[in-house]
Amino acid sequence: LIRPTLHHVTALDRSSSPAWEQRLAPEPLLLVQLFVNTHNYGVHPDRLDSPQSANMWLDSHGHSIARSDHGALLELREALRHVLLSNTGHADTQLATRELRRAMRNPILSVSFHDHGTAQLHGTGKKLEQFTSTIAATIAATTADGRWQRLKACGNPECHVAFYDHTKNNSGRYCSPDICANRTRQRAHRQRATTE
Ligand SMILES: [Zn+2]
Repeated sequence: LIRPTLHHVTALDRSSSPAWEQRLAPEPLLLVQLFVNTHNYGVHPDRLDSPQSANMWLDSHGHSIARSDHGALLELREALRHVLLSNTGHADTQLATRELRRAMRNPILSVSFHDHGTAQLHGTGKKLEQFTSTIAATIAATTADGRWQRLKACGNPECHVAFYDHTKNNSGRYCSPDICANRTRQRAHRQRATTE
């Protein structure tokens, strides 16, 4: 387990940080980002660490799961994180896709039509299936306009927090350039120094 340093805790204590607000994803992607960030590696306690706490969090977003689906929920979260890491170029994209496919099982989507003949995808089903398929519908909708590829996980292995990349050329690899990018660079530098 990674022992967080004070420096690192400050990096992830973002509730009041204006810089962090610029890393928030637009709707409907925000749900995926908040879901992945229910656990920040090695720093905050896992907000979904039991079926009860998971249901408290899900309830505030209009979802719920059966107790027996708690493991599958965490599997889905980490599969999503893996894909977000591959969006940053920090993980193998084929492996991440396979993991996501498995964790998604068989999402059931429905389409509703609105004024002007526009259509919208919805997740259907009960409990975990409903949550899973809602996320699947979000991924499908945001893949089409390129927003999904902008939701990423920070490349610092002590962080891996999900952030939305608002940069013009979608080139962000770390949640914060001055903290996580710097720390990763310093670590690589130290590793090079010890192997030389
Ligand atoms: Zn980070």
